[in-house]
Amino acid sequence: MEDKDVQNIIKKEEERQKGTLNMIPSENHTSSAVREVLSSVLGDKYAEGYPQKRYYGGNKYIDELEELCRERAKNLFGVPYVNVQGYSGSPANHAVYFALLEPGDKVMGMSLLSGGHLTHGWKVNFSGKYYESVFYGVDKDTELIDYEEVRKTALKEKPKMIICGATSYPRLIDFKRFREIADEVGAYLCADISHIAGLVVSGVHPDPTPYAHVVTTTTHKTLRGPRGAIIMVTHSGVEKDKNMGEKIDKAVFPGLQGGPHENSIAAIAVCLREATDPSFIDYGKQVVSNCRVFAEEIKKSGFRVVSGGTDNHLLLVDLQGREGIDAQSALEDAGIMVNKNTIPFDENPPFNPSGIRLGTPALTSRGMKEGEMKEIAFLVSQTLMQHDLAPQTYKRVEEICEKFPII
Ligand SMILES: *Cc1c(COP(=O)(O)O)cnc(C)c1O
Repeated sequence: MEDKDVQNIIKKEEERQKGTLNMIPSENHTSSAVREVLSSVLGDKYAEGYPQKRYYGGNKYIDELEELCRERAKNLFGVPYVNVQGYSGSPANHAVYFALLEPGDKVMGMSLLSGGHLTHGWKVNFSGKYYESVFYGVDKDTELIDYEEVRKTALKEKPKMIICGATSYPRLIDFKRFREIADEVGAYLCADISHIAGLVVSGVHPDPTPYAHVVTTTTHKTLRGPRGAIIMVTHSGVEKDKNMGEKIDKAVFPGLQGGPHENSIAAIAVCLREATDPSFIDYGKQVVSNCRVFAEEIKKSGFRVVSGGTDNHLLLVDLQGREGIDAQSALEDAGIMVNKNTIPFDENPPFNPSGIRLGTPALTSRGMKEGEMKEIAFLVSQTLMQHDLAPQTYKRVEEICEKFPII
């Protein structure tokens, strides 16, 4: 590369990633195969439209590529229809709204403050501005989704679409229950599995495809691919509306996007293939096992973990009065990357909430197991209790990083 300025920045970022522990649950380390494909000539091609129906010439191989990616996605998730052109998770969710609803229609999603995503109806987002949104949350005592409350709100509000899925919910989601509720009010059910797609594929989280009409996911979180998204129409979706796939395609292009990023689509194809390898099942299992051990260790140090533990790849630690923003920066000084996060019924504002969110997808990709989790949990709690230990902790973090390189 000839641009020294950019090259230098990349080098520094590479060193930062290598020399720190990444516990941000929405991030991961991709394979070199994924990264190589991302920087290929495929990114230079315009391919507005879909295979065999493009608005530009020269798309013979691009068509072959996008078909391959779609076939892999259909096979991996067991669905009849997919769109792989979404630029990322948020635009993919936008496309689902655009395809199935009219502006002003009512959507019910999980509140951001309970762990839902911005695109599930939050007021500053398109989903809260152009659609009417109602929310469900978690129970105050158990901190679990209260399905009776979900049902009551649905019966009262009659949403046209229910979205389930979350960005900071440490427990399993009962998709079957959501579908029963959706059926009672005649709503579409959209499952957004952006965080947990890799766990679903590995069989360590229930699969939404038998229940939801539409499933959306990012490809860069536990699925461990490039930034991108997959929108799936399930058998239930086709049954509800045989034109649903076509509506989704039209919403993505020409509704919301122009030319698809075919280099990303190629990298998605690569990650989907990696996810069919038996080692990926082991990966998913290890992510969850690591997270459980980590949560138990944190609890032993006296911290309260939201909902009392975790069933998936992430946990939320209640800092009980200590400030999330300080905790995040103390851990960063110790070389451990986490993000501050609201906890259910948080009394502090989202910019300085009372919790931190930690996850194991990236550490597990580096090959770490339960033993490392125990030690890192100790380092985390020590730093949380005494911020000035951060520099000392960082030395140990560097040693761990060296033993588990990012491949
Ligand atoms: C990450 C996430 C998204 C959005 O993904 P972006 O790629 O950041 O736009 C959507 N929904 C959920 C549940 C997520 O966790």
